[in-house]
Amino acid sequence: MRIGRTGYADIPIYAGAHDGRCDVDLSDNTNQWGAPPAASRALAGFDPARAARYPAAYAPALAEALATYAGVTPDMVVTGCGSDQVLDCAFRALAEPGDRVAHADPTFVIVPSFARANGLQPVAVPWHDASSGATGALEVDVDALRAARARITYLCTPNNPTGTPVPREVVERVVREAQGIVIVDEAYAEFADWSAVDLLRESPNLIVTRTLSKAFGLAGLRVGYALGAPEAVREIAKARGPYALSAPSEVAALAALAHDVGWMRERVADAVAMRTRLTSALRDGDAWRVYESAANFVLATPRDATLPDVMAIAAALRDEGIAVRAFAALPGIGGALRITVAPWPVMERLLGVLPGVRGGA
Ligand SMILES: *Cc1c(COP(=O)(O)O)cnc(C)c1O
Repeated sequence: MRIGRTGYADIPIYAGAHDGRCDVDLSDNTNQWGAPPAASRALAGFDPARAARYPAAYAPALAEALATYAGVTPDMVVTGCGSDQVLDCAFRALAEPGDRVAHADPTFVIVPSFARANGLQPVAVPWHDASSGATGALEVDVDALRAARARITYLCTPNNPTGTPVPREVVERVVREAQGIVIVDEAYAEFADWSAVDLLRESPNLIVTRTLSKAFGLAGLRVGYALGAPEAVREIAKARGPYALSAPSEVAALAALAHDVGWMRERVADAVAMRTRLTSALRDGDAWRVYESAANFVLATPRDATLPDVMAIAAALRDEGIAVRAFAALPGIGGALRITVAPWPVMERLLGVLPGVRGGA
């Protein structure tokens, strides 16, 4: 007897980069400057008596605060247990079983799994590679995405795991030419120089997903959201169901949006400065290709054939207490390390043990 639903046997269970035991975790693009101060105080002051009661079913106060933050109306916001849940619910609510989900490849690893888990068919569309020398550059193949005739087109900008910023004109074209829904994943929006939120007004087929896990430093609280036309957002809310956000998460997220936006912007500026510095240091030795990134991480791939395999490099970094995300073979890219940017002393520690870096191992 088959226990699972048809197709589930082939879905990989998400495996984290490591078991959590490391001094420095540069593997998952969290905020390396920590959690925001007002949200931390709100958590510390959370009334434990509230634990006995249910939170509000759809966290309306938070939806309102997020609407103000993003510049939309509250009926255009649905929250969820991380943007992971919001993406999963959007797939379930907006497509029929058997429909296609087209996405640039490589992209957020969980996307093809969520598609399959909802009976949808992922269609991977390779990036066009415009890299040269130590600089990696990728472009969306808009014609191939459109040719997939997908019910849902998923585009992540800045893209995880490459960091690639997709230009506004390209996203506009994808939204305009797509036959169905376009989901733009803006988990790293705060690090980028533009947002697709402006396009929502004239694009009823567009959904933008966001999170407080990255720039806002609240990954442990699991707060994500989607922005879109009220009719679309309401369907996603049905797939999500009530009580997805815990009361402490809502309280801390409200405090962050009320008082920590300035803190967040300063940490974003820090991350961008460290990204620039890390990128130069890695390219400098000529042994690594570093992809153009508009996020709080970089993707680096060995150019020098004498470097060890990336999995071996990642294991050696682990021995020094540093976790990074290693990919054995990304399509069109090959073996690569994704490194979250952190304060410079941490970056120096990494560069000290990374082979092929001037002054490093
Ligand atoms: C981290 C990440 C998310 C998930 O964020 P959560 O809100 O923590 O679930 C979504 N999309 C991309 C591209 C990410 O990198």
